[in-house]
Amino acid sequence: MVTVRGLGKSFGTNEVLRDIDLTVNRSEVVCLIGPSGSGKSTLLRCINFLEAYDRGEIRIEGTLVGYSEDSPRRRLTNRELRGLRRNVGMVFQQFNLWPHMTALENVAEALVQVRGMNKADAAARARQMLERVGLAAKADSYPARLSGGQQQRVAIARVIAMEPHLMLFDEPTSALDPELVGEVLQVMRDLAADGMTMVVVTHEMGFAANVADKVAFLDHGRIAAFGTPREVFHESAEPRVQQFLQTYH
Ligand code: ATP
Ligand code: MG
Repeated sequence: MVTVRGLGKSFGTNEVLRDIDLTVNRSEVVCLIGPSGSGKSTLLRCINFLEAYDRGEIRIEGTLVGYSEDSPRRRLTNRELRGLRRNVGMVFQQFNLWPHMTALENVAEALVQVRGMNKADAAARARQMLERVGLAAKADSYPARLSGGQQQRVAIARVIAMEPHLMLFDEPTSALDPELVGEVLQVMRDLAADGMTMVVVTHEMGFAANVADKVAFLDHGRIAAFGTPREVFHESAEPRVQQFLQTYH
């Protein structure tokens, strides 16, 4: 589904991703963990080309991300990128809901604007998506009247309404009060169980241990450890992994 080969990325003289190789198979959940500044968000953002990369390549379902297949140094135009992004959904730490729209309208909006659905169909589909994240009863509430966990679940409903093949999550629970983290992780667990392919940047080690098929530990822009949660958390001889995990317990 996603192959990253020899990926490199610098911001000026700051080399933030170095020689990254990563494969995400269909229906797999891959968690990216590692210290602050190690390059997790940058890697995630390169996958849907919110950031351009300098070296190597990324492919999603075989298609080169961000650059022209014929002349690989030519960046795709925004119009060309739209095709790629149609299949890739992203959930951020901040929920970015429209404050002046209800939960239902937030989910339906892109279905009308991007998918060209008529309003009635979009509303019906939005309602189904809200049901899937356990928020059918909040369809007519405005974001300000929802908890952070509920807002993030609306944001997830908005993404899954677009039927992405791949979902990218960047610390989706980091902005939440601790008691609200579980409900969002549960929605993500359900998605994983339904076979969604997911790449998740997270500090939730329990989620990574229980839900991830593979865990990649980033350190200074490199993947310092990669494998099943068991391999990375319990069997890795990499001292940086153990050091990192200790700061979490
Ligand atoms: P955190 O856990 O704090 O979110 P991270 O692992 O997601 O960290 P990144 O945000 O990917 O780390 O940042 C990796 C490096 O790239 C850092 O040194 C950061 O300062 C730098 N960086 C990130 N975005 C930019 C940018 N837009 N311009 C310049 N430097 C950037
Ligand atoms: Mg980050």
